[in-house]
Amino acid sequence: MITIQQSATSHKAQFNYDNFVFGIQPTDHIFLCEYQSGEWLSPRIVPYHNLTISPLAMCLHYGQTVFEGMKAFRQKNGRVIIFRPEKHYERLSRSLERMCMPQIEQSMFMDALQTLIQMEQHWIPDDKDISLYIRPFIIATEPRIGIKVSQEYLFGIVCTPMGLYYPEPVSVKVETQYVRAAEGGVGYAKCGGNYGAAFYPTLQAQKQGFEQVIWTDAQTHECIEEAGTMNIMIVMENKLITPCLSSTILDGVTRDSILQIGRDMGLQVEERKIKYSEIIQAFQEDKHLEIFGAGTAAVISPVKCIHIEGTDYSPYIAKDAQMYALKQQLENIRKGIAPDLYHWNYAI
Ligand SMILES: *Cc1c(COP(=O)(O)O)cnc(C)c1O
Repeated sequence: MITIQQSATSHKAQFNYDNFVFGIQPTDHIFLCEYQSGEWLSPRIVPYHNLTISPLAMCLHYGQTVFEGMKAFRQKNGRVIIFRPEKHYERLSRSLERMCMPQIEQSMFMDALQTLIQMEQHWIPDDKDISLYIRPFIIATEPRIGIKVSQEYLFGIVCTPMGLYYPEPVSVKVETQYVRAAEGGVGYAKCGGNYGAAFYPTLQAQKQGFEQVIWTDAQTHECIEEAGTMNIMIVMENKLITPCLSSTILDGVTRDSILQIGRDMGLQVEERKIKYSEIIQAFQEDKHLEIFGAGTAAVISPVKCIHIEGTDYSPYIAKDAQMYALKQQLENIRKGIAPDLYHWNYAI
């Protein structure tokens, strides 16, 4: 049972929907729950506030943290839905398992989301393209210097408004020196350490004039794996191609949704290893080629320039590109404009 303490005031009135920086202004409430003595205790929704943790808290030292990222949308009929929360839950469970953190029951997770979004849904305006980004996170809180599995955790969920922005096409560099993930590692888990480790190679690429890196596999550096913190996808002629899931690929909910929509639109879907030499060859043969990142935040992020071993190539980004149609269909399903054939929308 989730206990609720309503905030006395809402600071929504101070939120400028026409001009805001994403991710720095939380909504009015936070969900919190602690794990102690083998149990998740006192799930509650309370006014948003800063947390107090011990400087000895194990998350600060050993990186035992995982998170999720999903969105709630207002449909054209005014109803609010969360997009595929069960799929996010399954991934969270896999991340928790990999990081030796205690599982969260699905009923508690769904209850927490449902109750919190019910309370915060008024933050999603009905006249603007704004969704609510939902960030569940779990951190190890046992106060102890000593390398072992923490016995105490904090589970929180915060929300913040997000514009349905239309990202500019990006220039990317295929990274053949640094790696994001190696086989058998934690690449498939949404754990904090993966992101801290990606900053340095990304900054190096940015100094060379590229906005993002395309990661390659740790063993051969020949196969492309992910686009920054998004899954990478390619439209080549009539095929929609993306790396198959493995221990080094994050099982993206957007990736999975786009693949299904692609099939429904008549594209031939292939989940397999993609050598970058295949991309070079496709450019040389003048094939139709679109490259994009797929993830919850931007939905799709078109690539306008891909730098491979010293040469720049230009994928197709004109308005009639398939990737925009895929994105549009995904948005239509969420908005209740296209039928929700796969029950992806979870009504609040
Ligand atoms: C979160 C994430 C993605 C995208 O997953 P979605 O569920 O589509 O948001 C892809 N790659 C990495 C490394 C991620 O952290």
